[in-house]
Amino acid sequence: MKQYIKINECRLCKSNNLKEILNLGRSPIGNDLLKKNDLKRKINKFPLAVNQCKKCGHHQLSVSINNSILYKKNYTYLTGTSEVFKKYLKNYSIQICDKLNLNKNDLVIDIGCNDGTLLEYFKKYKKCKVLGIDPSKKPTELAKSRQINVLNDFFTFQLSMKIKKKKLFPKLITSHNTFAHVEDLNDFFRGIDNICYKNTTVVIEIGYWLKVVQNNWYDTIYHEHHDFHSLYPLLQFFKKYSFNIIDFKITEPQGGSLMLILKKMNNFKIYKKIKKQVDIEKNIGLYKIPFYKKIKNNLQKSKDKINILLNNYHKNNKIICAYGSPTKSVTLLSYIKLNKNIIKNIYEDNILKCKLYNPYMKIPIIHSSNILNDNPDVILILSWNFAKSIIKKVKKKYDKKIIFVVPLPEPYIIQ
Ligand SMILES: [Zn+2]
Repeated sequence: MKQYIKINECRLCKSNNLKEILNLGRSPIGNDLLKKNDLKRKINKFPLAVNQCKKCGHHQLSVSINNSILYKKNYTYLTGTSEVFKKYLKNYSIQICDKLNLNKNDLVIDIGCNDGTLLEYFKKYKKCKVLGIDPSKKPTELAKSRQINVLNDFFTFQLSMKIKKKKLFPKLITSHNTFAHVEDLNDFFRGIDNICYKNTTVVIEIGYWLKVVQNNWYDTIYHEHHDFHSLYPLLQFFKKYSFNIIDFKITEPQGGSLMLILKKMNNFKIYKKIKKQVDIEKNIGLYKIPFYKKIKNNLQKSKDKINILLNNYHKNNKIICAYGSPTKSVTLLSYIKLNKNIIKNIYEDNILKCKLYNPYMKIPIIHSSNILNDNPDVILILSWNFAKSIIKKVKKKYDKKIIFVVPLPEPYIIQ
């Protein structure tokens, strides 16, 4: 079995004119947290580079890792554990119900429904009928316990045939943060097209590449994300299936995402609002190679700065620990290539990750209640998008003056 394959064909338009625009070196798989028994084994590192398609402008990883390696761990992410995200999904359900005038018994399908958090809001607000589709085990068990119908499978064209046979007519098909994980996007979208009827609206929410490069969020580049989406390539992709992007929104909860509202129509049309955003992407240079020289410089500066900062603390015998162990932390640690053993422990709040080890330099992950025993002088915040709440929490429990280092978008310290 090959561990990974090189991607030679654009995942959206099939062109083989791909050019590398960013290279972060090699990195272990982000969700491959190690058990104690794994510590002796050699940890595989895989190339982590982004290619641009010169034909349609789509950005994508240069390799695809075999799924049996990529997803060998149990999927433990639960939508319903983040209060901020729950609130966001609740508001979205209310807004889209009102916008589309959804009523009792209208069917809503959520592809990548996870624990059913979103579908439950549709049930509560307008008594919609709901169907979730998701291949994960534990999260969908939770969804089922909430009386939500779930098809426990990957969404593919083949699965869409099963749904069609049941004569289900969804008024809304919604899918949040699943698109970048899909192996075959053409098959996936053919499936969506197959279950649409004339009144169906499709909503797709994805990480926005423009925001990644503008904000230096390079740690969102990891092997589980095959694609980094933007408006212009998707406009062309959806055109193939006679879908128009009728509206879009830049949304916040996952950093910076793009929410697209699609409708199947006979005539292809580029709406003014969409054109304006595509122009912003083009004018900034998102589809031009020289733009990425600037981005590479920014990354290098950021890497140097954090190394100098932490090495200085280390030289002065400060105890350095880190906080948070999201998938993206592995990209960050691999890219900045800290000197060995500079970080003593990584603190976590999610008990499923405690007593495991980060695959980069095998740093122990321990529960955040251990901060008192460690007595750290410096904490590097790897879940930097939650920096505010983490700092607040640590300060509340702990009197000592700790230096917090937030690595992104630009390394800075908070005392
Ligand atoms: Zn392409």
